[in-house]
Amino acid sequence: MSRKFFVGGNWKMNGDKKSLGELIHTMNGAKVDPNVEVVCGAPSIYLDFVRSKLDAKFGVAAQNCYKVPKGAFTGEISPAMIQDCGVHWVILGHSERRHVFGESDELIGQKTAHALENGLGVIACIGEKLDEREGGITEKIVFAQTKVIADNVKDWSKVVLAYEPVWAIGTGKTASPQQAQEVHEKLRGWLKTNVSEAVANSVRIIYGGSVTGATCKELASQKDVDGFLVGGASLKPEFIEIINAKA
Ligand code: PGA
Repeated sequence: MSRKFFVGGNWKMNGDKKSLGELIHTMNGAKVDPNVEVVCGAPSIYLDFVRSKLDAKFGVAAQNCYKVPKGAFTGEISPAMIQDCGVHWVILGHSERRHVFGESDELIGQKTAHALENGLGVIACIGEKLDEREGGITEKIVFAQTKVIADNVKDWSKVVLAYEPVWAIGTGKTASPQQAQEVHEKLRGWLKTNVSEAVANSVRIIYGGSVTGATCKELASQKDVDGFLVGGASLKPEFIEIINAKA
């Protein structure tokens, strides 16, 4: 089954209207592979701005949302608010949410369920820390994180699974194509055993962690690597090269 290549940009807490406007201008004018689904994760305060400026062929994502529709949750945003800005994706479970802001697997599961119920596509992030990799428990960690997400998903067509080893995020230390392929293949195997063969064959499993123009092509050539989630390089014109990794 062919899986449409998916490239997400995660702008994190970076940029302002001027610099993001310039980036958007570059993206709108660039020649991009039409066979790639591109989604840019913008800071929540700029979702409206980004959606209004970015060409409609590119999707936009929020970088987080809360688990209930509305109420006394100072500082949070709901999937309904995200949709109201014309934005149809959300990144959930990013390692910075897990490890800087202390989000638990359980909370990420609840957010996933609520976002999907409200029609958002979810880029669900998982990944092991360095000590976990060195301790030989990568598989155990990513399977456990995937299980909590899977328990909260009814419609897998709206989910992209992002494997992002924490040691590779923002460190310049990209996983080797073999390391990425190995985990992606195991994750697909887990989906086959625990969800269904059809889901295992159709879900995009994307890689994130220091992806650059220089590393993207070989990673993209791996059988189970269906795209990328890109942080630092998504703020640079280099992002276009990454989008076109398969072209
Ligand atoms: P990076 O970030 O590309 O800067 O390593 C990836 C991510 O955090 O999604």
